[in-house]
Amino acid sequence: MEWHTKELVRKIVAIKNASMDRFKKYTKDMKILGGKNRVIILNKYMVLSALIVMVTALSLYGIHNYKSVETEMFSNAYEVIIEGVPFAVVRNKEDFWDAFSEVKEQIQEINDKEVVMSEEISFVEVKGYSGEITNHEKMIRNIKLVSDIKVKVAAISIEGEVIVLLDNIDIAREILEEIKAEFTNEEDVEYTSIEFYEDVQIEEVFSDSRDIRSKDEALYYLRKGTDEAKIHEVTSGENSWVIAKKYGLTVEDIEEANPEINPNRLKIGQELNLIVPKPYISILTKEHATIMKNIPFATKYTKTDAIYAGDRMITVRGVQGKKELKVFISRRNGEKIEEEILEERIVSNPKTRVIAEGTKPRPATIATGIFANPTRGRLTSPFGMRWGRRHEGIDIAAPIGTPIIAADGGVVTFAGRRGAYGKLVIINHENGFQTYYAHCNGFNVKVGERVHKGQKIATVGNTGRSTGPHVHFEVRKNGVPVNPLSFVNY
Ligand SMILES: [Zn+2]
Repeated sequence: MEWHTKELVRKIVAIKNASMDRFKKYTKDMKILGGKNRVIILNKYMVLSALIVMVTALSLYGIHNYKSVETEMFSNAYEVIIEGVPFAVVRNKEDFWDAFSEVKEQIQEINDKEVVMSEEISFVEVKGYSGEITNHEKMIRNIKLVSDIKVKVAAISIEGEVIVLLDNIDIAREILEEIKAEFTNEEDVEYTSIEFYEDVQIEEVFSDSRDIRSKDEALYYLRKGTDEAKIHEVTSGENSWVIAKKYGLTVEDIEEANPEINPNRLKIGQELNLIVPKPYISILTKEHATIMKNIPFATKYTKTDAIYAGDRMITVRGVQGKKELKVFISRRNGEKIEEEILEERIVSNPKTRVIAEGTKPRPATIATGIFANPTRGRLTSPFGMRWGRRHEGIDIAAPIGTPIIAADGGVVTFAGRRGAYGKLVIINHENGFQTYYAHCNGFNVKVGERVHKGQKIATVGNTGRSTGPHVHFEVRKNGVPVNPLSFVNY
């Protein structure tokens, strides 16, 4: 009776707008009958008033006798309607119910699952259809076609929304375990809790069996999630490849979402539109861990007259200390989101670094480490390949007799003629660098003499292999020529 009453109330709501006129006209055709007392029979053209159905519902028990009388009156046939679709004509309602049960059993057997089928079933008495009675096989076929058949399946729902349907609860559980395992596979870690960040539930629901996904499909779908629009602001050191990698995208994805931007020329602060995947499920884990951390050392400065002013010397090497931390770490999908320090123990204290700063007056002939331009003039030939030969220095054109100065302090190691160089001065700056000044006209220094930065050492000439007055200036680092234009400005 429970079922019948519920069904009636539903019908009453459906027809609450019925017109009284129509009701009066058709009321005599109305029957509330039922095979096994389960079905409402309505004339298919009829519209009912809510009031009358209510009255009928209340007198439900009293219509058994009435039924047989009425059935006799319309003994020919019934049209069967499922979900509003007429699909069969039967002589007895039993013929339909037999077929209906058969379909249900078949589906139950095939799916090995509980099945629910349409409840929207009605019968309409018809006349003159004797030759059009639907045969059993056709009725079975039609029931499968028009009936709303649902099987019991397992649903994974997230934040109250059903996301995937699985064949059964065991598969749903396996899927959730597998997703959890992805972020909890660290060895040596004891997780104190492993939970879903979102509200994730497994429930049993009735659904169309065609909506069931395989385990792999469901895993893919849950991991891929939905797309989410995001704006990324380019920061220092980022290029499109780095940004793409960060969000699990490709450079092409970024190009596609930002057609007006050249991905090879990103500027700091530039905003990029990104469509990034957002997984449906994320895993929140908590773990206790013991970690060692370095304690940085401090630096103390002292003075010493053992070295020149401006020079520094480490007199005590600094050593980092160590501390052991007991921490409680929360991670979302493996990424640390919180770290709480529960206990801290110093394993070793850091050792302060001591740097001595020189106070000894610096002699002018000590190299400063910064080169001055050796002469005034015009750059006529750069460093590097020239006419198929390597040019080991730069050429600076200037009139004969123009002063040449020491680019930095040091000691003169050569002052004389040397082949293609002509008259040449070499200064050793005693810091790994040597400078060469070639094609000179005359010398102002001798070998072994100490010179200070800016001191006149020679004059511009045209000696050796030279096609006009100029200085050929070389900078050598540990004997190897390097580009002087990295040190001087012309
Ligand atoms: Zn040259």
